[in-house]
Amino acid sequence: MQLISPNSNLPTTSSEPIDPFFRVEVISQTVNPQQVIYAAMHQDYAESFVWDERDQFPDETKAGELVIKHLLAGGRGHYGPLEHPQIVLNCGFFPHSTMQQMRTHRVGVSFDVQSFRYTGQRLIDVVEGRRDIEEVFYLRPIGFYSDRQGKRYEYTQDLRQQDLEWCLQGCHRYAERIQQGFSEEHARGLIAFDVRQHWVMSANVRSFMHLLDLRWKLDAQLEAQQLCELMWQHFKAWVPEIANWYETSRAKKARLSP
Ligand SMILES: Cc1cc2nc3c(=O)[nH]c(=O)nc-3n(C[C@H](O)[C@H](O)[C@H](O)COP(=O)(O)OP(=O)(O)OC[C@H]3O[C@@H](n4cnc5c(N)ncnc54)[C@H](O)[C@@H]3O)c2cc1C
Repeated sequence: MQLISPNSNLPTTSSEPIDPFFRVEVISQTVNPQQVIYAAMHQDYAESFVWDERDQFPDETKAGELVIKHLLAGGRGHYGPLEHPQIVLNCGFFPHSTMQQMRTHRVGVSFDVQSFRYTGQRLIDVVEGRRDIEEVFYLRPIGFYSDRQGKRYEYTQDLRQQDLEWCLQGCHRYAERIQQGFSEEHARGLIAFDVRQHWVMSANVRSFMHLLDLRWKLDAQLEAQQLCELMWQHFKAWVPEIANWYETSRAKKARLSP
């Protein structure tokens, strides 16, 4: 859904947060990732066993620069060495639909996602007044949107309030069915679609950039762009030289894979 009104109170770029709950945190990441890529690249053409030369590896910044020069610049497409360093992220409080979009990517990316087969307590918490419904369900902010044919409409405070009440009714029905002895996997089908979900996701440097290619572009869904924005902060801190190359040559340019 495209945002079209300059008067809207929604952000006009994906970098401004649209939701106070969205989170992306790093669980783990390969140390010295650019040196790791350098070592892999170096082994491609070095006669020697590169481990024996590890004390002479260029530092992390220089390694990044060499990787860009020899692998990435000029669209060489030699991406294999970038597949070694891994980052593991915890993505939280995103709508179910965003999780579905990310999970379509299969190569070099791995996921563990809450299934609502084991976790439904927070729906009950809402019913019992222990948790705010906004923390459990995602609804877009009020503002102006357009449909896929470009027709404008306004999501007003009043409509949004009605939708929150709809989500709340779903929680009540869920709690009722659980009370009647239903399993969580049966009762979960009764709740609103964009329940917030948490997941753990790992990617390598190459597959991470592929995710950004497809989900950070300006016609990607707003929430997926926001997820990429939060992921990007960690990528930039982790592989700064490569991130700098990505930002100038590919970011948000819809340079898609075949
Ligand atoms: C804007 C947008 C809208 C979408 N809408 C829908 C939708 O409505 N419904 C839906 O189900 N999906 C939808 N998708 C998902 C889409 O169809 C792909 O499943 C998804 O983008 C994953 O493809 P990928 O290129 O990222 O593959 P990845 O799994 O991330 O693989 C990376 C790359 O490896 C190669 N590759 C992987 N698997 C194969 C294979 N089997 N054969 C050949 N090469 C392969 C390709 O080069 C691919 O680009 C949408 C995606 C986007 C970006």
